[in-house]
Amino acid sequence: MRRSIRLDKEYIVHSYLTEDELAIKEFLAFNEVDDDDLEPFVDELLQKFVEEYDPEMDKIKKIVLLWCIRILTLGDEIEVNFKCKKCGNVQDTTISLANLLRFPEIDSDEVPTKFVDSSEPIEISDEFYDEMDIDDFEFYAKNLYSYYIVYNTKIHFNCYYCNEDHFTNLMSFKKVLQFMSEDSYETLTEWLHVLVYFGHLTRNDVLKMTPVQRMLEIKYFQETKKKELGDQNGN
Ligand SMILES: [Zn+2]
Repeated sequence: MRRSIRLDKEYIVHSYLTEDELAIKEFLAFNEVDDDDLEPFVDELLQKFVEEYDPEMDKIKKIVLLWCIRILTLGDEIEVNFKCKKCGNVQDTTISLANLLRFPEIDSDEVPTKFVDSSEPIEISDEFYDEMDIDDFEFYAKNLYSYYIVYNTKIHFNCYYCNEDHFTNLMSFKKVLQFMSEDSYETLTEWLHVLVYFGHLTRNDVLKMTPVQRMLEIKYFQETKKKELGDQNGN
C-alpha cells in the first residue's frame, strides 16, 4: 500500500511487512539506546518507506512520517498498557491516533507549513505577519490550524477504575517504533516458528506478509487447530 502525505511538500509513503516489524522489534529488544541514538536506524527505515527521503529533515518531521507509515500499515488505534498512578490498577486502553496529528485542511501552497505542538501556545514568527495585509491577517487568524501541521505531545486517557487523568507523549522515535508492531519480539518469533512448522508456509512466505495478513493467518491457524481438536474428540 502507498499513500501521499502532504507535509511541507508531498511525500509518498509505503506500508511495511512482517520482516520489517521483526527487524524493528529485534533492534529495540537488543539495543538499550536513547531516543537520539535511534536516528540512524530511523533514517534507514524512512529511506525504505518514504520516496525521495531526505535524512536532513527535522526530527519532528521524521516522527510524523513514521506515524503516517504506522497508521497506513496497522490503522490509527494503539493499545496502551499502563498502571494507574492513583489507584495502582494495571490496565489496557485503546488510543486513537487521530488525536495525535492534524494536517492542513486547506490547500496551503502559498503559506509556509510549520509543525506546531498543540499542547503549547502557538507562536508565529513576525516575518509571517509582516508579509500580509490586514485582510490576509484576519483570514489566517481565523484559519490558523488550517495552515499548520498540528501534532499533540500530550494524548490524554483515563483510568478505567478511578477516572484519574493520564497522558502519554508519543512524539519520540522510541514510542513510534514500539507501536509499529502489536506483538513483542518473542511473540513474533514464536508465531513465525509456529506458522512455518505447522502452517506449511516457508519462513519467507510469512516474512513477506503484511502484519494484517500475518495476524489473519494466525487466526485461521488457531481456528483450524481448534476444529481439528474438536473433531478428534468426536464433536
Ligand atoms: Zn485509577
